Amino acid sequence: MIDKIHSRYGLPFPVFPEGEVWLAGAGPGDPGLLTLHAVNAIEQADIIFYDALLDQSCLDCAKAGAVLEFAGKRGGFPSPKQHEITKCMIASAHDKLRVLRLKGGDPFIFGRGGDEVLALAQAHIPFRVIPGVTAGIAGPTYAGIPVTSRLINQSVTFITGHDIHGKLPRNLDWQALAHGSGVLVFYMAMKHFREIAEALLAAGRDPDDPVAFISNATTRKQRVITAELSHAAAAAREKGVKAPAVIVIGKVVNMMRALGHFRQEWKTILRSEIQDDKEAGHTSVSAEIENALPCKPEIAGKLS
Ligand code: SAH
Repeated sequence: MIDKIHSRYGLPFPVFPEGEVWLAGAGPGDPGLLTLHAVNAIEQADIIFYDALLDQSCLDCAKAGAVLEFAGKRGGFPSPKQHEITKCMIASAHDKLRVLRLKGGDPFIFGRGGDEVLALAQAHIPFRVIPGVTAGIAGPTYAGIPVTSRLINQSVTFITGHDIHGKLPRNLDWQALAHGSGVLVFYMAMKHFREIAEALLAAGRDPDDPVAFISNATTRKQRVITAELSHAAAAAREKGVKAPAVIVIGKVVNMMRALGHFRQEWKTILRSEIQDDKEAGHTSVSAEIENALPCKPEIAGKLS
């Protein structure tokens, strides 16, 4: 299949040379979101260092005899240290193995991919980076939320709720986040969400702004909870939202309500459990869309 596509494209898929390290994103969970380049890498690798947040079925296309090394956090045990993983990858490359670092989502979105390629460059190890589908875009999509919508927002901001020490990052500019970006997408933010919501509200973000928590996005365990910003932290606690979750703040979350009418026919791959505090009622589709979107009714009407 892969070969068929690439022969039409006119360029063969890259051959994995011995002694190289490839970093590939495996997407947020659903193996259908692996890229063809990631599959090509998995098929050729001699050793694969893989992360916790990817579905093990991604590894099924590894060749016989390939070594699979878990390099993530498992059940409360401390995760292997970043420098240990990097050291092992470099040692394996020196042993002339084809080394694949398989990471959840995209390697360069809050995935430490940047640190790893710097270390590889310093060690003069040739490398390649294969982008992946990031949780902050695919998760909302599977929940029925487009992270941008022409009628609602002209920018989207990706933010981590976790710094290198596990604390809420100190250098976040809450004024800018509250006023400068229509849609905020938080990663690794469950632990500090109460502080995040308080900081945004104190900086003047609309307390009625809708929030969606999408946990285990794109997997069979996907769950979506929505609430307004002013009581979102309490709602997440009450409903027991657990990591891993992406959190979307902004009016695009209302699109989920408007699109709710189509949910039965909605062509996402996955049916997800959605608990919405304002689940769409029996109003007409166009009325629901008009309510959901902060745009002129005549424009909204054209969407229905
Ligand atoms: N590089 C990854 C992000 C790694 S940081 C990417 O591009 O997606 C880890 C965080 O990503 C988690 O704490 C969570 O916020 C988010 N995440 C990753 N997979 C997820 C999933 N399946 N569902 C919800 N959130 C996910």
